[in-house]
Amino acid sequence: MPTAPTLSSAATRRPRLTVGANGFANIARQIPSPNQDARPAGAEIALIVVHGISLPPGNFTGDHVERLFTNRLDPNAHPYFATIAALRVSAHFLIRRDGELLQFVSCAARAWHAGASSWRERSGCNDFSIGIELEGADDVPYASAQYAVLGRLIRALRVRYPIEDIVGHSDIAPGRKTDPGPAFDWSRLRQWVERRRRARRGDIA
Ligand SMILES: [Zn+2]
Repeated sequence: MPTAPTLSSAATRRPRLTVGANGFANIARQIPSPNQDARPAGAEIALIVVHGISLPPGNFTGDHVERLFTNRLDPNAHPYFATIAALRVSAHFLIRRDGELLQFVSCAARAWHAGASSWRERSGCNDFSIGIELEGADDVPYASAQYAVLGRLIRALRVRYPIEDIVGHSDIAPGRKTDPGPAFDWSRLRQWVERRRRARRGDIA
């Protein structure tokens, strides 16, 4: 007799997203970036910074963001690239439009994503934050698959680190940065995180 679908059978369809003690997410495709260094001694990871990026802006094809974060962007491939190819930047994660999760820097290390920034009167957010880039643009709706993976990733990060807040790049660098932009739906992200939390409680009960 066929058994009814259950939460556990649903869970077997995709592995649970976890972040190990080494700071690497189990399901992420790893693309190591040289643009990283050690966090200051004793720095607790308290903040998640959500970003939006696409290269050139508004284009969601190709591997240009990967190339930028690994210092392999061809400055001759597009006029815009010539202006940014020399930047030395990275983020811990990139979530592509189809929900693919890429990781460039271990969460244990400092990625170079925030630039000049401050949060609750602490400057230099790279020291104590995790940077998550969504492939997107400020005024283009982000993809459902991106909210789903971002929600799962945030849940896993909260298990591993004492996260106090989740903010946008524009929140910690106002006037200088606008991403992830008005197209990013914060209430939708909250629903994803909360829905998963409720489901887990129901599981136990
Ligand atoms: Zn940003």
